[in-house]
Amino acid sequence: MAAKIMDGKVLASDIRSEIKARTDALRIGGIVPGLAVILVGEDPASVSYVTGKEKACLEAGMNSFQRKLPADAEEGEILSLVRAFNADPAVHGILVQLPLPRHVSESRVIAAIDPEKDVDGFTPVNIGRMVIGEPCFIPCTPHGVLKLLERAGVATKGAHAVVVGRSNIVGKPLAILLARREINATVTVCHTGTKDLASFTRQADILVACAGAPGLIKADMIRPGACVIDVGVNRVDDASKPRGYRLVGDVDYDAAREIAGSITPVPGGVGPMTITMLLWNTMESAERVAVGRA
Ligand code: NAP
Repeated sequence: MAAKIMDGKVLASDIRSEIKARTDALRIGGIVPGLAVILVGEDPASVSYVTGKEKACLEAGMNSFQRKLPADAEEGEILSLVRAFNADPAVHGILVQLPLPRHVSESRVIAAIDPEKDVDGFTPVNIGRMVIGEPCFIPCTPHGVLKLLERAGVATKGAHAVVVGRSNIVGKPLAILLARREINATVTVCHTGTKDLASFTRQADILVACAGAPGLIKADMIRPGACVIDVGVNRVDDASKPRGYRLVGDVDYDAAREIAGSITPVPGGVGPMTITMLLWNTMESAERVAVGRA
């Protein structure tokens, strides 16, 4: 039987309606959630992500503050901008679009963000809070994956979750979050050093592919009935498309959907959830300010 499709577009739209309602309530109380985005350079993918984030902010009734710096901007200039946003009460969330140019230390810039405004959840303080289970901003893509699992009613308690990928922004935080007591999955993390990847993925009740490797997960690597979350977004050449490429995930989707119990498509699965959870975190940050004022 074909898998149930976990539609990220529909879920993202539902959650954005909820965010809009909560943002409207904040506005009545005199607070408009504001997201500041710093873009350094003109990398086309980064420009397109930042444009998407600004549009989503405005649609959610939030303020968007964008600052664009040239690719040769000094690290000190970027740090000054971060500090100015840290001090600005109209700004509830700060995002530095990555990657930064090579002459700039990403870790120093990220660490300069006020953890109370770190809506990407990338600062060491937030990551530490997440690891020890304190209130924190959960990084947007893992947050989106958790929402997809929750809203699809996927049973996580006692499930074996296999995460393929261990990056700081997706795989690692996801593995930590899935092992939290309230989610209670047993987690295995795989990476390029894993021997016989299929022997692990075949054991997964929940398989999360976040490797950035198109077609890595074949149908015969999936346990029948498993929930398959495909985080990967990869461009592959396709002369039939106007842009000359199409987007695919890490999973061989057409074959996998005949085996899996549920599966996210690419595009239209995890992707729409990522920006949505950025809005969510920004709204929550503004709500904390509202509670502090009350
Ligand atoms: P990344 O920093 O390149 O990390 C990839 C991870 O996957 C690494 O830990 C790597 O292992 C592992 N890996 C790569 N190839 C592998 C293989 N053949 N077998 C086993 N493990 C393998 O990537 P990322 O930033 O986490 O992103 C991963 C994918 O998710 C990309 O396609 C990216 O575009 C996508 N993404 C999507 C969203 C979204 O909103 N949908 C958001 C973020 C990222 P090592 O550690 O051993 O190198």
